[in-house]
Amino acid sequence: MAAKIQSPVNFLSTSELNRYAELRSDEKWIEKKMKSPSALFIPVYNNKNLFKNSLQPKHEPEINPNPVLLPYSEINKIKNESQLIYFLGEIGDKYYFAVNYNSENEEVEQSLLKLGSLDDLRRIMSLMNPVNASLLAYARALSHWHSQNKYCSLCGTKTKSAASGHKLVCDNKACSFETFPRTDPAIIVLISKGNKCLLARQKHWPRGQYSNIAGFVEPGESLELAVKREVFEETGVLVNNILYHSSQPWPFPGSLMIGFHASAENFNISPHDNELEDVRWFTRQMIIKGLSDKTLRFPFPISVSFKLIEHWFNKSGKVKLRSLIK
Ligand SMILES: [Zn+2]
Repeated sequence: MAAKIQSPVNFLSTSELNRYAELRSDEKWIEKKMKSPSALFIPVYNNKNLFKNSLQPKHEPEINPNPVLLPYSEINKIKNESQLIYFLGEIGDKYYFAVNYNSENEEVEQSLLKLGSLDDLRRIMSLMNPVNASLLAYARALSHWHSQNKYCSLCGTKTKSAASGHKLVCDNKACSFETFPRTDPAIIVLISKGNKCLLARQKHWPRGQYSNIAGFVEPGESLELAVKREVFEETGVLVNNILYHSSQPWPFPGSLMIGFHASAENFNISPHDNELEDVRWFTRQMIIKGLSDKTLRFPFPISVSFKLIEHWFNKSGKVKLRSLIK
């Protein structure tokens, strides 16, 4: 049962990437790859990615936004002291690196703007090729981790990048504390009972938008207990039969969404906190009606939250959820 509902790879992650984790600390190998014609560099500036053809606020793009991928010669031209290079991995004989401009610099910004437009990946990603989106997400996540860890958390000395960006080491010899890129696990769960599923909305979301219950896993807590706790806190509903569905990196700035299905023990909604503006039970008919008359909206189809709703919705009835999304 559990194996059947596992999705292979969700958007923002790609099975095509060979990360070569075992070679990250081999400086000679990294340098050789970095300077080879097959190396491509993904610039990250101030948590923004660089696009050839970005979205203007009120204009839809005619073609999908493509990232600017630079050769080694090009990144050398915009070199500055805050530039850090991280090895990401290989796809089809191309070696991908992130080049992070770690602090704001007018000159660097102007050089990058001559090559494309800087934009927030989150705003654009749903229109992108999935492999490109996952590479940019990876580059952004690693760059963000570096920008948050410039100083040692034990002694306050500056940290130094190691293992081609996959480790930070305290520069104080007496301390030498090592830190590794962190990911914050968050559960997201589709709750169902009978022919209904439980969805909720937050106050700041677009009008009519509903999604699954989600929340961060706490220290000393298992994923299953985080599901039970979050659902109970936010809705007052007790759940059991918790089954893993699939996961999705969500590097805004550093989460991993871990998707589940769960069965509700009761229909009674009585939230214990004020995180949500509304929680309600939906039948498939209510979803069909809401999506058709546009009083209901769901998250982007690339998201694990949509996939969870879709998996439940498509299990019975002839209408497929994607056919209702315009
Ligand atoms: Zn230290």
